[in-house]
Amino acid sequence: MSDFDTIIIGAGPGGYVAAIRAAQLGQKVAVVEGRETLGGTCLNVGCIPSKALLNATHHLHEVHENFEKMGLMGAKPTVDWAKMQAYKQDVVNGNTKGIEFLFKKNKVTWLKGWATIPAAGQVKVGEDVHTAKNIVIATGSEPASLPGVTVDEKTIVTSTGALTLGAIPKSLVVIGGGVIGLEMGSVYARLGAEVTVIEYLDSIAAGSDGEVAKAFQKILAKQGMKFILGAAVQGAEVTKKGATVTYNLRKDDSTATVDAEIVLLSTGRKPFTDGLGLAALGVELHPRGQVKVDDHFRTNIAGLYAIGDAIPGPMLAHKAEDEGMAVAEVIAGKAGHVNYAVIPGVIYTTPEVASVGQTEEQLKAEGRAYKVGKFPFMGNARAKAVFQAEGFVKLLADATTDRILGAHIIGPGAGDLIHEVCVAMEFGASAQDLALTCHAHPTYSEAVREAALACGDGAIHA
Ligand code: FAD
Repeated sequence: MSDFDTIIIGAGPGGYVAAIRAAQLGQKVAVVEGRETLGGTCLNVGCIPSKALLNATHHLHEVHENFEKMGLMGAKPTVDWAKMQAYKQDVVNGNTKGIEFLFKKNKVTWLKGWATIPAAGQVKVGEDVHTAKNIVIATGSEPASLPGVTVDEKTIVTSTGALTLGAIPKSLVVIGGGVIGLEMGSVYARLGAEVTVIEYLDSIAAGSDGEVAKAFQKILAKQGMKFILGAAVQGAEVTKKGATVTYNLRKDDSTATVDAEIVLLSTGRKPFTDGLGLAALGVELHPRGQVKVDDHFRTNIAGLYAIGDAIPGPMLAHKAEDEGMAVAEVIAGKAGHVNYAVIPGVIYTTPEVASVGQTEEQLKAEGRAYKVGKFPFMGNARAKAVFQAEGFVKLLADATTDRILGAHIIGPGAGDLIHEVCVAMEFGASAQDLALTCHAHPTYSEAVREAALACGDGAIHA
């Protein structure tokens, strides 16, 4: 008899959610986690600490930029970096402890240590070999490297080092203008650092709707961030004062350098499956290292599954969570389902940027006839009241059927607003369905409805 019905390797959002759901479905479950705390990248060095710093610095920005406009006078607060770090750590601790509580509540065993899979159906932790009918690889990802850039987590850091810098730097170069780089860049820009983002592509926030990416860059530039686009970083050298980053401009192949106290390497993440013993086991991987799975998260080895950042797809906590629930259900003989067409993506800057479904560029490439309903937050009373009227909601709908195909929002609360469109898309709604839904006034969500109205006879407040 096996020790466990299911052993999950990794206690990130994929693994811990899979464990809880499997336990809820009556299984005897263990999770192996090598870190000191549960919650994976997301809770320890990802989503949660970055959002704590974004929150603190957002308030700082508000005090400096907007308080006087609202008649809130008085001395401006100064930053106690150590206290801000302690606040961030408290938020992390509260959340990681929360997972420990949920494990106890659901009778999930935490096997502490690093796991290997010596044979199908076996998981080795330290000297102990545990057996299980099902094993789920939920080992997540790690920062990708870049030739010529050696990370020391002091001067040249990944997002992990950027979350725990010893002091607020005077200058920061961010290599890679994706979500993580822009969020962390935003944090330090609001703390007074001179932030320069170097991006290989010609726009930031790769994969975003083009119009949104442009507007977003303009807003961040207004907030003081600098951008060098179309630039291939050649290397970074640590100097006495920090580091020098060398890059080639792709348009004319000219070389230039930029100096900074700290360099953040944020060119993406890669699956982390080191040390599991997958090669010896004969587990098939994609060329980029993700574990190959079928529609039911099954690898080519019977009883071995994989989810989250370790498999293909967007590297997002909620995608990992959905796969966690689904794999537990598949193992329990239920349907288990993830709709990859409706996975929102959010950038938690101010303003927030959120999207779901297809971009205009994708629809054009597909040759699909579509219509655009756009509404600026300038026409939204609530957004104006909080000085965040620069963005817009853009809804894309099928030209013939009016079915919603995508939504792209830049503006206040975008990360929450996007979900009404997600629900609408899950139900196969038309833009008119959203337009006919009464939205409370004054809320940001009225802008979503107005964008839906703009897909039909027209928005009212534009
Ligand atoms: P992970 O969270 O990476 O967890 C894997 C766990 O497995 C780790 O704890 C690791 O220690 C453990 N492990 C690995 N190998 C072994 C082994 N052999 N034995 C035992 N344990 C092992 N996503 C969002 O959706 N929203 C955000 O706002 C967001 N912000 C982010 C900000 C930053 C700075 C970063 C770095 C990432 C962010 N992400 C965000 C991405 C998100 O963190 C990941 O998509 C998510 O954590 C993936 O979950 P996972 O369960 O697949 O893996």
